[in-house]
Amino acid sequence: MRKVNCPECDGEIKVPDDAVKGEIVACPDCGANYEIEEIGKEIKIKPAESVGEDWGE
Ligand SMILES: [Zn+2]
Repeated sequence: MRKVNCPECDGEIKVPDDAVKGEIVACPDCGANYEIEEIGKEIKIKPAESVGEDWGE
């Protein structure tokens, strides 16, 4: 298990060792979803886009 800091709240987001690029991780503190943009020595995440899911009211 690895960790990356949430850009929003600086909380610790846990990233499984077998996570792959494109996988979605969620911040346990603020609940934001992030997509793994790059995973290697460093983990980079970007805000997940809710493609295919319409939350419209
Ligand atoms: Zn957060």
